[in-house]
Amino acid sequence: MSVQGSRLDPWRESYAERTAGMTASEIRALFAVASRPEVVSLAGGMPYLPALPMDAVAETVQHLIATQGMTALQYGSGQGHPDLREHILEVMALEGIEAHADDVVVTTGSQQALDLVTRVFIDPGDVILAEAPSYVGALGVFSSYQAEVVHVASDDEGLVPAALEERITALEAAGKRIKLLYSVPNFHNPAGTTLALERRPQILEICQRHHILVLEDNPYGLLGFDRDPWPAMRSLSEEGVVYLGSFSKTFAPGLRVGWAVAPHAVREKLVLASESAILCPSNLAQMSISTYLSNNDWRGQIKVYRELYRERRDAMLGALESLLPEATWTHPDGGFYVWLTLPEGLDAKAMLPRAVTERVAFVPGTAFFADGSGAQHMRLSYCYPESDRIREGVRRLAGVIRAELEVRETFEPGTSARPSDRGVQFPGPEQP
Ligand code: PMP
Repeated sequence: MSVQGSRLDPWRESYAERTAGMTASEIRALFAVASRPEVVSLAGGMPYLPALPMDAVAETVQHLIATQGMTALQYGSGQGHPDLREHILEVMALEGIEAHADDVVVTTGSQQALDLVTRVFIDPGDVILAEAPSYVGALGVFSSYQAEVVHVASDDEGLVPAALEERITALEAAGKRIKLLYSVPNFHNPAGTTLALERRPQILEICQRHHILVLEDNPYGLLGFDRDPWPAMRSLSEEGVVYLGSFSKTFAPGLRVGWAVAPHAVREKLVLASESAILCPSNLAQMSISTYLSNNDWRGQIKVYRELYRERRDAMLGALESLLPEATWTHPDGGFYVWLTLPEGLDAKAMLPRAVTERVAFVPGTAFFADGSGAQHMRLSYCYPESDRIREGVRRLAGVIRAELEVRETFEPGTSARPSDRGVQFPGPEQP
């Protein structure tokens, strides 16, 4: 059999050390299964695109190519299209951010901005502080640059300032170099929580004192259900924050347009790093968004999304309330996610094969910690399934959890999987 035929990778000795930190996320493996029609997926974070006026989007793109095709299909500026950067200022003004178009770097989704900031700041072994739990996609970037991620305690009001100070003091005493604090302040992925207003200046003050740059990742900030957006941390500090925004959740993720706003010198580095990675973000995607924003009621569209997600949040919380008294969960007032804590001793990852058999999917909490903790938690998203499906998904999930609890009572303590589940492989992309 050839080396290829044996599926041994002939290049495995050649890979750079940093690839050791590049592993498929648990969410990626889930997509293959969760997209089957019979499964209620409470796993993915996909915006509900049927709520977008597709005719208007189609007209925008068609007209754009017909009238400005030479520019839209050409290479563009490494920093991003000037018209879009102006529009981004309007969007950020809703969160109290005053910036100049020159401070904005357009990226291929905010995911690329996460990559650029990490590339510009992190040497192997540098510390990035992050909420516990943290967005899985950011953890993937951080580990691919060999950062040491240290989680900081977070509660229902977000990151705890006293815990942050304590962590920094201990790390500094141990001689560690702390470069960044990564935070998702609004409608957190995966926790569903929002950083309390009074904590924001406290956190900035602590970071400023210790010369730690705050990486404020805010794709959900405009998706609050019951109130106007809160002031971003960037609105309180121009020099101490790199702010990331995105059109993925408020418009459409397929266009892959996000942005970073950074202090002047940092912005220069981000543009150079982006040019070396992608030359320039897509002109077509950027111009589609700026034309759409000019000609359509985008604030109204965000309102449509907010109302839709609020209804689904209510469906999920209502179903959890009536069907899962054994568990506890967060109460998001915006965004896509609920963070559920299982009864003591249950392990969400071990439970996943049974849940998939019962046609419901979630993301196990361990995906959101760099240190392998989080087994007692899971992330449930309510953004994509309709309310009836959400209730059905929670009903199935409650059945799985109840069965696990019964098994624990019947079998020896410490066994969270049914005997019949042991050895069941969770089908990832390689095992569809
Ligand atoms: N940050 C957070 C917290 C996210 O939830 C996501 C998407 N799930 C991203 C960044 C990346 O979004 P995008 O690249 O689509 O802008």
